[in-house]
Amino acid sequence: MEIPTNMANIDPVKFGPEDKFKFLCHKKIDCFTKCCRGINIVLTPYDIIRLKRRLQLTSEKFLALYTTPQLLEKTDLPVITLKLLDDELKSCPFVKDNGCMVYEDRPTTCRYYPLGVASLSHKEGADDNEFYFFVNEPHCHGFKEQKEWKVSDWRKDQGVDVHDQINAEWTDIIVRKRSFPANIKLTEQTKKMFFTASYNIDKFKEFVFESSFLNKYDIDPETIKKIKDDEIALLEFGMNWIKWLLFKLGNFKLK
Ligand code: SF4
Ligand code: SF4
Repeated sequence: MEIPTNMANIDPVKFGPEDKFKFLCHKKIDCFTKCCRGINIVLTPYDIIRLKRRLQLTSEKFLALYTTPQLLEKTDLPVITLKLLDDELKSCPFVKDNGCMVYEDRPTTCRYYPLGVASLSHKEGADDNEFYFFVNEPHCHGFKEQKEWKVSDWRKDQGVDVHDQINAEWTDIIVRKRSFPANIKLTEQTKKMFFTASYNIDKFKEFVFESSFLNKYDIDPETIKKIKDDEIALLEFGMNWIKWLLFKLGNFKLK
């Protein structure tokens, strides 16, 4: 499985941030919500935080109710996909006749559509390698519309810039791990830590504040205060810690 792939027929044309395409999606279009069935949506860490807040669930409960874990090919790292309903069309659990019931908090992949992200290189300064696939699925009639978009404007309009910025360290871990020799395997414990820090933020908070973690690592009081009060800061802290565990990058210090 590659990330993210909710798209069955990918046009092999590469798009850069300045490329243009014609597309418009709206409630009166005859294919409305057809793209929300039979899909494979990989959830990013920030997607999970947004959705669990929206649904007023703990991250543990959200994972249990709405997701399926999988191993990401070539990385040996666990990823999370949205669990589809067991109906004839394999619908997304959030699609209703009048559209997406979590629209303001919809996942990154849904925001990008009709673009598929290929590079995962959303770190600042990584623009040289940033590219997208244009997804042209026959059931989607948004391509018949005349509204023209530049890729960079589409990203802004759909709010993916914020998602990509918050998920940047997570995507960087995946990209780095993918280039590791296949014979270097992660321990089950490390995979578990990656899973918890990436997808189960409530459990990760418990781990940081209720285990011996803070006795083991030299973390400054300001950071401790920040990650206690702010889930996004905790997510970023967790990703930096995982990066240190896996690649010895960053400035984590044992006491
Ligand atoms: S989360 Fe919303 S936009 Fe995404 S597939 Fe489900 S219903 Fe469609
Ligand atoms: S135009 Fe495409 S993206 Fe919009 S509802 Fe139709 S199938 Fe979905």
